[in-house]
Amino acid sequence: MVGNVAVGGDAPISVQSMTNTETRDVDATVAQIRQLEAAGADIVRVSVPGMDAAEAFGMIRQQVKVPLVADIHFDHRIALRVAELGVDCLRINPGNIGSAKKIREVVNCAKDKNIPIRIGVNAGSLSKELLRKYREPCADAMIESAKRNIDVLDRLDFQNYKLSMKSSDVFMTIAAYRGIASQIEQPLHLGITEAGGLRSGTVKSAAGLGLLLMEGIGDTIRISLAADPVEEIKVGFDLLKSLHLRSKGIHFIACPSCSRQNFDVISTINELERRVEDIITPLDVAIIGCIVNGPGEAKEADVGLTGASPNNLIYVEGKPDHKVDNENLLDELERMVREKVAKKLADEQS
Ligand code: SF4
Repeated sequence: MVGNVAVGGDAPISVQSMTNTETRDVDATVAQIRQLEAAGADIVRVSVPGMDAAEAFGMIRQQVKVPLVADIHFDHRIALRVAELGVDCLRINPGNIGSAKKIREVVNCAKDKNIPIRIGVNAGSLSKELLRKYREPCADAMIESAKRNIDVLDRLDFQNYKLSMKSSDVFMTIAAYRGIASQIEQPLHLGITEAGGLRSGTVKSAAGLGLLLMEGIGDTIRISLAADPVEEIKVGFDLLKSLHLRSKGIHFIACPSCSRQNFDVISTINELERRVEDIITPLDVAIIGCIVNGPGEAKEADVGLTGASPNNLIYVEGKPDHKVDNENLLDELERMVREKVAKKLADEQS
């Protein structure tokens, strides 16, 4: 459990992101965490680089509901302090905390307070010794690093951990996760680290994480993008939606459009996506420019639109419902989507 969010086993795959504000700037960090919560983040990680940031973390903790992970390196006192202040998970590598005594203190504290630890192996920060042994970062070096950290926790009889094995290389990441997945029972946190900007990072993450998720590997994901962290949450959910692993909000089906289109498909889908961003109820909505593929896709959707001349046709639950002209298209689609969501919610409650 990370706070009230279960990770691993049959729990839904959780989607997380990390703040990129200055943690000591409590207001800015709280504002960003709230944006992430609003986008649906299950868990949020906050970097805590020093003792002053730890105090700020305490103030942040009091102002937000979502479970918080504190990202800590080198200084075990920070871990002890955020544990007192109500952290939900410690992202810490026992190997870089220092002496056995310091590690024991942190682990005992995590045990006492029932706080899980995430061991975060990163190809970019392997120990000098492992780099000498393997000559360069590679999956085997990452696996050995993970096992060394796990051994430290095992010796202290601590099993309440999850593990990440991140590299910016898709192949290395996949090999590292595959290698460790069969060896431990604990949940795996998936990510391609430093994946890139919004577009390139999304593609890289989808390729790597998509493959692992399809193999049943992974319990929580973070899409690392050099972009607004809110985008990481949106991409994370889109990835899970596309693999039918989790549904949240509208799942859009849209054609790429061509000269047969009877309305402007691209501007319609973009504007509709923007208008219904607040909806978290799962719903399939198909926006198709003409009758070549429109009726087929609309039949499978909760709400469908097929372009036709002189009027387009709206489908509800797979059946033709009514016609709409181009001028009223967006307003009508939004109305139908919201109506269908309200009906779905009412059906669920009855
Ligand atoms: S569904 Fe129609 S408008 Fe859309 S791409 Fe296909 S042929 Fe073109």
